[in-house]
Amino acid sequence: LVQLFRPLDMLGMVYRTIRQGLIDMAEMFRLLDTEVEVPDAPAAPALVVREPSIVFDDVVFGYEPDRRILHGLSFEVPAGQAFAIVGPSGAGKSTIARLLFRFYDPLSGRILIDGQDIREVAQSSLRAAIGIVPQDSVLFNDTIGYNIGYGRDGAGVAKIEAAARGAALTSLIERLPQGFDTEVGERGLKLSGGEKQRVAIARTLVKNPPILILDEATSALDTRTEQEILATLHRVTEHRTSLSIAHRLSTIADADRILVLNEGRLAESGTHAQLLRQGGLYAEMWARQAAEADAMSEAAE
Ligand code: ADP
Ligand code: MG
Repeated sequence: LVQLFRPLDMLGMVYRTIRQGLIDMAEMFRLLDTEVEVPDAPAAPALVVREPSIVFDDVVFGYEPDRRILHGLSFEVPAGQAFAIVGPSGAGKSTIARLLFRFYDPLSGRILIDGQDIREVAQSSLRAAIGIVPQDSVLFNDTIGYNIGYGRDGAGVAKIEAAARGAALTSLIERLPQGFDTEVGERGLKLSGGEKQRVAIARTLVKNPPILILDEATSALDTRTEQEILATLHRVTEHRTSLSIAHRLSTIADADRILVLNEGRLAESGTHAQLLRQGGLYAEMWARQAAEADAMSEAAE
């Protein structure tokens, strides 16, 4: 695995940012015209998604051989449910998303989607089935319209406009000199972290995948935009299987189930109400965030 990833490192900073940012890799490779990936099994069939369940079965993983990050993690997200993953920074939450998208393979254990081991299916089909709204979104040096619809050749103007609306981008785009044709990115208009994140959400709405992973998707947004986006995300996760990784617990309190990850292990799991009653790590995190929110609103008065 280390061997396979060495060429990636040569692409330097940009590449590392992208890898950590969980952008749609298949597309990125196409753009970079590079062919370095975790290899497909010979004649790997396409992933067939009828009931998009997700299973982590005793998954052990580390980026470096002598440092384990996930220590035999097992959980199941039934098809159509909205699960959340919370836990301290560094617990391994984003790692779960990276493994699911197969940027890396587990050292042992299996990851299944709809009963199929993701190591045994064509990656293009795996990545087509999963939409990721990453923690740090990366934009291409192209128009904002391209950035929303990229990779979907069939994505017409109507679809891109609808996605922009869904991601609360309409008023921003209306203010741009050339609307959807405005150049953004390094060589164009610089967007804020929150705006980039909304572009990533719009991109996912265009892609319309059966499985959604939201990695702190609203963390860079102000409270008002966050509320707007949350309403949208609720709508888009409704008929899908989703995993929301969240720092702010208030944004995931209504998840079907919350997995509390601590140091690469599942510490607790349950609904918000169950976890509060349990009085463990989640309850502690909830109390701390509530106190912080109180202090903030007092300071604002
Ligand atoms: P979380 O999302 O819960 O904050 P991550 O899954 O990003 O945590 O990271 C879990 C651990 O793995 C952290 O200790 C982090 O430093 C380490 N880690 C993350 N990415 C890499 C990488 N590319 N190489 C080595 N270690 C990494
Ligand atoms: Mg993370």
